[in-house]
Amino acid sequence: MQRYSDILRSYDIKPSYTRLLIYQYLKQEKTHPTADEIYQQLLNEVPTLSKTTVYNTLHLFIQKHLATMIIMDENETRYDLISNPHAHFKCMSCAKIYDIDAEAPSLNPELFKGYIVNDAQLLYRGICPKCQS
Ligand SMILES: [Zn+2]
Ligand SMILES: [Zn+2]
Repeated sequence: MQRYSDILRSYDIKPSYTRLLIYQYLKQEKTHPTADEIYQQLLNEVPTLSKTTVYNTLHLFIQKHLATMIIMDENETRYDLISNPHAHFKCMSCAKIYDIDAEAPSLNPELFKGYIVNDAQLLYRGICPKCQS
């Protein structure tokens, strides 16, 4: 946990116990959870946890550029740590989201003139290898 609190501090985030747990969950599970999933999972460890705290923590992480939101479908917001650029593949059969080690296509930066780009996402949908067999 010490290493994790250093990471949070380096993003200018005070490492409270709950924040550390949420960070640890995102870091270790890599399942691109929804806020609800995070809440359900951590409730065992922190029975006093509220959904609002989970949302607030996730929004703080996003504000500080530690995490990002992935909007997959309507009403489905998932969270991911900002790490090496990667693409997401959503399987339409098992609904799992896979990380694909691909970089976003290098778009002409001229197109974004005047915009501040914080993050770019590449999303694929289809059937994963497991579901094909
Ligand atoms: Zn699948
Ligand atoms: Zn990801």
